Amino acid sequence: MVYDTHNIFAKILRGEIPCKKVYEDNHVLAFHDIAPKAPVHILVLPKGPYKDMDDFTKRASAEEITALFRAFSQIACDHGLDQSGYRLISNCGINGGQEVPHLHLHLLGGTRLGRMVQAG
Ligand code: AMP
Repeated sequence: MVYDTHNIFAKILRGEIPCKKVYEDNHVLAFHDIAPKAPVHILVLPKGPYKDMDDFTKRASAEEITALFRAFSQIACDHGLDQSGYRLISNCGINGGQEVPHLHLHLLGGTRLGRMVQAG
């Protein structure tokens, strides 16, 4: 499957749609999820055109991969989650329940989170 340049996160990255930005560097953008599932629910994405984690790990440069992982801990610290804890989720493909075909990780925290997986 080729990368769909019309997906909503591609439009946010191009500045065509607004977002509530919390973090940005050369390779990463992070913003608040529009429908938060926890007191803190931030989406963290690479700026490059990667449709999911599988695509990213195969094609991204070492610099892009490092930037994404460093961003998680930076954002967690910025929101006071490094002490209380948090969860990172990346939905991948149909069975993963991915809705937007641009790689993003959900950074969730601010409360005791429930069960990790609920099928169905
Ligand atoms: P996923 O199911 O992993 O693809 O998650 C997509 C996420 O994007 C959902 O949690 C949506 O609430 C969120 N979302 C969709 N549109 C926007 C938007 N314009 N700004 C922020 N978050 C969005």
